Amino acid sequence: MTETRRGQRKHIFVTGGVVSSVGKGVAVAAIGRLLKSRGIRVSIQKLDPYFNVDPGTMSPYQHGEVFVTEDGAETDLDLGHYERFIDEHLTRESNVTAGQVFEHVIEKERRGDFLGGTVQMIPHVTGEIRERILRVGEASDAEVVIVEVGGTVGDIESQPFIESIRQLRRNLGRENVFYIHVTLLPHIASTGELKTKPTQHSVQELRRLGIQPDMIICRSDDEMPPELREKIALFCDVDEPAVIPLVTFSSIYEVPLYLEKIGVGAVLAQALRLAERTPDLAVWEEIVAHVNGEENRPLRVAVVGKYTQLPDAYLSVVEALRHACIAQRGRLDLKWVNAEDVEADGPEAHLNDARGIVVPGGFGPRGIEGKIAAARFAREKKIPYLGLCLGLQVAVIEFARAVMGAAANSTEFDPGTPLPVIDQMESQRGITQKGGTMRLGAYPCALEPGTLAAEAYGESLVHERHRHRWEVNDRYKDVLAEHGFRVSGVWPEGGLAEIMERTDHPFFLGSQFHPEFKSRPNRPHPLFAAFVQAAKRVHLEGDQEALPIGASDEMPAPPPELDPEGEEYPVPSGRFQG
Ligand code: GLN
Repeated sequence: MTETRRGQRKHIFVTGGVVSSVGKGVAVAAIGRLLKSRGIRVSIQKLDPYFNVDPGTMSPYQHGEVFVTEDGAETDLDLGHYERFIDEHLTRESNVTAGQVFEHVIEKERRGDFLGGTVQMIPHVTGEIRERILRVGEASDAEVVIVEVGGTVGDIESQPFIESIRQLRRNLGRENVFYIHVTLLPHIASTGELKTKPTQHSVQELRRLGIQPDMIICRSDDEMPPELREKIALFCDVDEPAVIPLVTFSSIYEVPLYLEKIGVGAVLAQALRLAERTPDLAVWEEIVAHVNGEENRPLRVAVVGKYTQLPDAYLSVVEALRHACIAQRGRLDLKWVNAEDVEADGPEAHLNDARGIVVPGGFGPRGIEGKIAAARFAREKKIPYLGLCLGLQVAVIEFARAVMGAAANSTEFDPGTPLPVIDQMESQRGITQKGGTMRLGAYPCALEPGTLAAEAYGESLVHERHRHRWEVNDRYKDVLAEHGFRVSGVWPEGGLAEIMERTDHPFFLGSQFHPEFKSRPNRPHPLFAAFVQAAKRVHLEGDQEALPIGASDEMPAPPPELDPEGEEYPVPSGRFQG
């Protein structure tokens, strides 16, 4: 199909200027919601100019959370915003990196596809980028595709991407393409002013690359005075209604309502000749009305992780907690707890005031003993606990140590442990390549009737997203179950434990998958909803001191063949069969 024929579909390209990290992804997601609220089919794509093939191999310090799609792609965290705002499952097509583009072009060159030709940035690399942009619309059959270019204009890496979106305006027709530039207005404290000059320079740079923006979204922490709107319109040659001030809101979920009010939806509908339809944002208004919670007593939930200085590393977890609180009308009081501090000071010092404890996903041994201690504290003190992937694994290690002995561990942290209660999946053995090789994406999970999990979901079969190499070792499941920690969700084909829960606790549940990726502000994930509900119940019942302490005291004695110290516990012969 030629690009001209493909041009019936509308494309909105969003670039960034001045600095990164001003919330371009949220603005894009919010615009997606405005279009969807008009009944328009919309899809969103992120172009990341870095050379990594995907962010799966990057440190959370570099990149924040790795968002996993239903089809198992490890993607940029902005895809999480997109999915949560437009309430659609996106696919691997929705995140394109320079690494993917160059890898494919070079592969084609080696195959001989360009035989005789010189392979160049234009047209080969830009052609590949254009192709990948157009594919999103085709695969999703969206009427409007919004494409966010990562980074800021002027970055060397982003130039082929900017050039590609410039070419697309020619190829698809001017009436089918709209450019939005998102900038920052810095605040000068000494004069109390917001400055527009960096925006002007950024637009000049964009024009130098051949793109004149149709809309400028100006991010600022303070209200933008009306005369600046006029000034930016004049200097940047954009219609005044298309200069959009965007201050920082206390909740990102307020952004779509604000952008609608200030006329973004109307400007887009007119420019792209979309049939003008009245937006229906009723559900969104409901979300915003309850986003800050109504209860007087905030619900303190501790998240025990190792990237607590960088909350973006756990973005979807935090959003999923918020969604559950919106539904429960609770006021979330998030407490970041560094697992290494728990290791050093003991759990009481950091978790005594927590009404719920979450241990999110993670990799590697740093802070692991702190996470194990947090799981023990939650179990013993009967504090609602939600373990996500690694959070399930540490809960298993912790309880196995209590039942079978201190040597219990995951082979991820102690490859020689005599009690490998968490072991590498069979399918993962021998894999040396790091990128894209984990067990990734959605797998079915059958729920055991009569369990917390089945009750929370209200269904018997669910599909959840994964990103891991290790699993609960089959050999120890019965022993753990006998002592009150049982499997309540299983991957039917592989027999792997997907959910485990305690039978002697208000709420103690861990999942091998990442439920946080499927939570939506209007539809909290059932496991998060059940966790927050339990935390609220415990919270309302009274102070921590009033809670029963020391569930371990009440724990049934281990079966006679087991040595509580674990030293003599028979080492299973053979390894866990995934
Ligand atoms: N490191 C663990 C594994 O690979 C847990 C992964 C995670 O929490 N996402 O199985």
